[in-house]
Formats: sequence, C-alpha cells, structure tokens
Amino acid sequence: MSQSISFQYPERVQLAQTPTPLQKMERLSDRFGVDIYFKRDDYTGTELSGNKVRKLEFLLHRALQMGVDTVITCGGAQSNHCRATAFAAKRLGLKTVLLLRTPNPAQPPATEANILLDYLADATVIWITPEQYQQRNLYFARQAEQLVAAGACPYIIPEGGSNALGAWGYVSAVEELVNDVKELDASVAATTTVISAVGSGGTTAGLVLGNKLFAAGFRVVGVNVCDDREYFQRVIGTIMDDFQERYLPQSIVSPADIEILDGYVGKGYALSQPAELEAIRDLARLEGVVLDPVYTGKAYFAMISELEKNPQCFGPRIVFVHTGGLFGLFSIAEQMAAVL
Ligand SMILES: *Cc1c(COP(=O)(O)O)cnc(C)c1O
Repeated sequence: MSQSISFQYPERVQLAQTPTPLQKMERLSDRFGVDIYFKRDDYTGTELSGNKVRKLEFLLHRALQMGVDTVITCGGAQSNHCRATAFAAKRLGLKTVLLLRTPNPAQPPATEANILLDYLADATVIWITPEQYQQRNLYFARQAEQLVAAGACPYIIPEGGSNALGAWGYVSAVEELVNDVKELDASVAATTTVISAVGSGGTTAGLVLGNKLFAAGFRVVGVNVCDDREYFQRVIGTIMDDFQERYLPQSIVSPADIEILDGYVGKGYALSQPAELEAIRDLARLEGVVLDPVYTGKAYFAMISELEKNPQCFGPRIVFVHTGGLFGLFSIAEQMAAVL
C-alpha cells in the first residue's frame, strides 16, 4: 500500500451531522454471502439529509469568507442539492436563488417533496427548460448580474456542488470510512469496495481522491444514474485535475482510477422502472432502510443485480454509500404505491 500524502483541508463551516454511522445489513449480507455495510450519509441531517451537505460545508465557508448574501445554484426539479443548499443557506443567514429544470417552465411541477421544501426555505425558484439548463452558466451569470444590480452579492455554486472545493466533502468522508473499516472484522482482510451513485460527479471525485490521499486501498465504484461512463470519466476527471492543480503538490490520481458501473440508467434520469422500485420496497422490508428512486435506488439495484450474477464481484466486503434523497420518494408516491 502506498503512503498517505500530507495535505491540508480548506476551512469549512460545520453543517453536517458527522461522522455518519456505518451499519451492517445483516440479512442482505446473508443473502449474498458477502459483508454489506451502508454508510448512512442520509443521516447527515433532516433538512440537510444526504451527500450534498458535505460539499456545502466547504463551498459555503468560501461564500461566507467572500462576504456574500445570496447563493445561486441549479439542478433538476426535485434536486436534493438545491433543497440542501436552500436550508444550509438559511442556517447561515443567506438567501438562495435556484435554477430548476423542467420541460415546460410555464407549467412547473407540483409543489411537493423537495420543491415544497425549497419554497419552505424561501428560495427564489426560477424554472428553466432542459435546453436552457445546457447553458446554465449563461443563466447563472444573468442571475448574478441582476442580483448585483439590485444591490445583492451572490455566490454561484455549480450543479451538485461538484467542483474541486466541493470534492473535499468526500475526501473527508473517506477519512471517516478509514476509521469505520478499522473497527470491522479484521479477518476480512481483503479490499473494501465502496459503491455510490453518480449524478454530477463530485462525490466520486472526492472518494477517489480521498482513497489516494489516505492510502485507504478501497476499490471505488460509481454507478451513473444518467449519461454514460465516458461522460462521467470526463466530468470526474476534470474535477480531479482541478483539485490536484489547486491543492496538491503532485498528481496522485489518473482517469484509470475512475471505475464507473454503467448500464443501470434504465429509463433515464429521475425515471424509474418497476424492478428498481421493487428493489427499494424489498430493502425497506428486509432491513428497514429507505432508498430514493433517483440515485440510491438505482445504485442499489445495480449492486444487487451484479451480486446476483456473481456474489464475489465486489469482493468480500462492500460499503454502499447511502447518499440520501429520501424526499424524492414523495414525488413518485403513486408509482411507488403500485408496487406495494
Ligand atoms: C446528488 C446525489 C447523488 C450523486 O452525487 P454527485 O456528487 O452529484 O455525483 C447521489 N445520491 C443522492 C441522493 C444525491 O442527491
């Protein structure tokens, strides 16, 4: 194993309930004959639940340092990142402007689940089309201009909080995981495989970087819930390159370190098929754990589908990162009820 590298964390604001628990899924482990643990990042908070708050701790520290009064960010209509940002901003006395993607901005989706929470936190919501979202940097700049003209001072957070600074959130999570794994059965000496959903790439970038920085020796696998492997190798590669350039004296990771398990996007981003919803149902009943339909449900479905083909495919020990997203389930209540 290579030696860990000395580095310094950027400053952060404390927002997340960490360290999060690592829990063994006993019956699921028995089913496949391998040890399966969940890293409960859905426990990072109630309003702030999920993976985004780990990144926001670093991003919002920077925002405060710059003396801003408003944060602007973007995402899909039911974005967990936008909801977490809106609440984290309130904790710090900041305002939020959200660019949310919807097919027809003249007829935005119902005020439910994460959208309800966005409004509850008094976020200003601007609906934009998928085509406009493709050029979100333009819309970010326009919003920022308008805010400045109105006397405000905005800070732009990219989609999912996924940039070099945000990636520190999952470097820090690897530090937790290294400690978590130390407490486990030492007779399972082989590699631990860490599996998580990939949406905007910052979580996986942080996990891959942290894995090297702490010489953790994990196998890091990301399950893409949209786009494809090539796309995410590029996106995650860019975040990692930027991180290394900004924060490290030398390069420690390469694109070859990015392992994407492709083939489980299914019907598309935020679109569920019955088999995925049945997997969510079955896990709730087997272990008393709730997954979300957009990210963790798909990543979990991918994991068990691969385990069904070959129980040893991830080695003797798996850590599945439960990245949150629970509120998303309430936006597909009818579809979910159909499999209950
Ligand atoms: C955003 C999100 C992810 C994906 O994380 P990225 O850093 O965007 O790749 C996974 N799970 C949930 C619940 C999320 O909200």
